[in-house]
Amino acid sequence: ATSSSSTLDNKHIVYSRHADCHLHNQTAVQRFFERASLWPNLTALECGLTGRKYSYDKVRELIRRLGSALVRMGFKKGQVLGMVLPNLPEFPIVLLGAAGIGMPVTTVNPVYTVEEIARQLRNSNTTAVVTIPQLTGTLRQVAQLCPEIRRLIVVGNPEKGFASLGEMLQDPGDLFDDNIEINPSEDTFVLPYSSGTTGLPKGVMLTNSNVSANIQQTEHPGTMKVSSCPATPRDASDSQEVFVCVLPFFHIYGLVSLMLTGLDHGAKLVTLPRFESESFLKSVHQHRPTMLQLVPPLVSYLSARPDLKLDSFHRLHTIIIGAAPLGPLVANKLIGRLGKPDLLMQEGYGMTETSSVTHLSPIVNNQIGSFGEPLSRTQVKVVDVDTGESLGPGQHGEMCVRGPQVMKGYYKNEKATKETIDSDGWLHTGDMVYYNEQNQFFIVDRLKELIKVKGFQVSPSELEDVLRRIPGVSDVAVIGVPDEIAGELPRAYVVKKKGITVTKEEIVEFVDVKVAPHKKLMGGVVFLDAIPKTNTGKLLRRELKNITNSLSQG
Ligand code: AMP
Repeated sequence: ATSSSSTLDNKHIVYSRHADCHLHNQTAVQRFFERASLWPNLTALECGLTGRKYSYDKVRELIRRLGSALVRMGFKKGQVLGMVLPNLPEFPIVLLGAAGIGMPVTTVNPVYTVEEIARQLRNSNTTAVVTIPQLTGTLRQVAQLCPEIRRLIVVGNPEKGFASLGEMLQDPGDLFDDNIEINPSEDTFVLPYSSGTTGLPKGVMLTNSNVSANIQQTEHPGTMKVSSCPATPRDASDSQEVFVCVLPFFHIYGLVSLMLTGLDHGAKLVTLPRFESESFLKSVHQHRPTMLQLVPPLVSYLSARPDLKLDSFHRLHTIIIGAAPLGPLVANKLIGRLGKPDLLMQEGYGMTETSSVTHLSPIVNNQIGSFGEPLSRTQVKVVDVDTGESLGPGQHGEMCVRGPQVMKGYYKNEKATKETIDSDGWLHTGDMVYYNEQNQFFIVDRLKELIKVKGFQVSPSELEDVLRRIPGVSDVAVIGVPDEIAGELPRAYVVKKKGITVTKEEIVEFVDVKVAPHKKLMGGVVFLDAIPKTNTGKLLRRELKNITNSLSQG
């Protein structure tokens, strides 16, 4: 449904209500060093489980040590470092240590299987990988499949075949070069993976400028309520923002909008390695967050807990929701439950391809159910899917966005880049939306194949590739079916091969062991005589959605 050619007209561009924000020309690391020097003694990161913590000054020192240790190991600018890590206080140290010597970083979901991790690390030409002790066995197998990996590094004690991060952080730091030439608007800073509008997950090249622009855009006055810590505050505990970081740093939303934005504000980031209800609540009660960044299922979860200690929410001024639509019922239930009618619930919209955010609801008169309005320096256009014509308020069409946060392109995939960003610089989101007279935007539907389960991406193509390996499967198509808790769940439509028996249970089991938990076929398996296709063999996912609707009504 998306088209690569330049859209026909620019009659109805929606411009940001905000003035142009300031854009700096620093790398992420230069910026962090500058900001950290404002609050050297404040806690930057603290592990919500163990209490292990680092001050801003310590983080700055450890970034230099790690960068220097990587140089000592022979790594160079441009070589990719993979991070297979949950949220830990060391996450930004590894990220910025590598970035400081010009290594692009690809972040991997640590619940991925060997095959899934290997695919991303091979595709991104990763040369060094950092992981946790629990995953060293997995990474040993991954390394066998990825000949370019030269070094495995583990957070914690040394292990056979792994360098120890702890030892690397003892490095004198002398090989860290402050003057290394990194071009902020050209060189890749992070390389997260996204399947975009179609096909397999692809490396999204985000430059230092992309990411820092996005931080500046959300920090622009009047956009969010969050405030930077005053330099050398008299009473830090009163003025420091506190984020309890349960959303994963490996995903763009956690990486940029939570971690890097928090550090830019001098916030204390309390890290939780996984979502586990007791530790999450314990951290909230102990650390009294000022802002919570959540996905819709977590909002439902919080509002349903009978044991919330309401005074822990005393400093909470904002809940930011992103990655999937939030229903007004759920939102109002939590506001009521916390007894905070002034609590700001802001919904954001974004994509990996836009360095995180393009839209955020306004801090006054925000409408729950809308994902808000364009950030500073962000232009938006809603186009007719068939004609490319730009549409006015109230009309449904594909959303296109343009701004400094739009990725440089997909790694080693010019074709996909051209299909996504047109010659006028508009990124075609693959999302069907409309906006109202106040330029507030609303999601209607997703045109692209992508399935989102609890905010995580599932690429139908990837699951279809797995399913085609089953001997009894002749043809297959995967789509998302709506689910109240997860948002969507993957369902496979399968055409069986004549003469070979295969059951639904066998199909589910085959997939179960090959994919991460959120990609499992929790939406079920349905057998069909044929998969609906066009004359040219293109899969008609719309038709499958209609079949799904009629099945659920029947
Ligand atoms: P990702 O690259 O994983 O962040 O996924 C991006 C996609 O998530 C978007 O193209 C949308 O389909 C979906 N998405 C992000 N934010 C929202 C939102 N506020 N409401 C509905 N869908 C969203």
